[in-house]
Amino acid sequence: MSEKIAVVGSGQMGNGIAHVFAVAGFDVTMIDVSRSALERARATIEKNLGRQVEKKVIDASARDSALARISTNESLASAADAALVIEAATERAELKFTLFADLDRIAQPSAILASNTSSISITELGARTKRPAQVIGMHFMNPVPVMQLVEVIRGLATSNETTARVLELSRSLGKTPVEVNDYPGFVSNRVLMPMINEAIYCLMEGVGSAESIDTVMKLGMNHPMGPLALADLIGLDTCVAILEVLQDGLGDPKYRPCPLLRKYVAAGWLGRKSGRGFHEYS
Ligand code: NAD
Repeated sequence: MSEKIAVVGSGQMGNGIAHVFAVAGFDVTMIDVSRSALERARATIEKNLGRQVEKKVIDASARDSALARISTNESLASAADAALVIEAATERAELKFTLFADLDRIAQPSAILASNTSSISITELGARTKRPAQVIGMHFMNPVPVMQLVEVIRGLATSNETTARVLELSRSLGKTPVEVNDYPGFVSNRVLMPMINEAIYCLMEGVGSAESIDTVMKLGMNHPMGPLALADLIGLDTCVAILEVLQDGLGDPKYRPCPLLRKYVAAGWLGRKSGRGFHEYS
């Protein structure tokens, strides 16, 4: 595989993905429809690389060469020479379906098309292309430069060869990949979201305050962060969207989003990104 990677979408996940590939020595093109998103992404990568230099994770010359390996582009056509394209655009199914059909036309025939989606079916994304054997999920965790896991999701048609290449590439980033199959929410959100939702039911029913619920799970279960604080970090609107995918896809009412979660989203209390969720952020 040549060393060129294209990342489509340069938001909080896309810039993290570009960051880790560039540090590992790959040439990366970040593509976004928004010029200002690309500028913000480059500034964020520069800041985060600087933080890694301060913490002695990398040295100053590694920071400079990583930055030099990243280019930005507003046109999807710049993915034409990439060996691997990772889509990390907004979590909307129709948008991703269109992107995969377009990328299938643009990318070289041997290229692998991966998605960082949290919940959209990899099998369905593959079906939008003429190369479903080369379509796969590469689910990085937030923040990408810090988190160890890459959940590698096989669609129904994903080949063994594609899976093996993506597992190997993930390891070359210093990450630990875990292979799973394509079902709604994969493993990560299938297991995590019901716990978060149940914590919100506990809050709604007055079983405990947000502080007590989070403290029970932190100290009692050794979780680094309570489920309500984690929901705030993910974004409460995203939590609703993922629970709806689980409920629709698996047909079980146990995944229904808690009414209190919906109420917070209706109020615009989306978690950290809006300054208020189950906790307040200044
Ligand atoms: P974000 O809103 O921060 O960034 C999305 C970016 O996509 C924006 O910059 C937007 O301009 C760009 N975009 C939209 N349409 C585009 C198009 N047609 N072509 C190119 N760029 C386009 O979102 P995010 O939090 O970075 O999430 C991106 C993906 O990663 C989603 O699929 C999400 O489910 C997944 N994900 C998010 C998290 C998380 O904690 N935020 C964790 C794991 C996976």
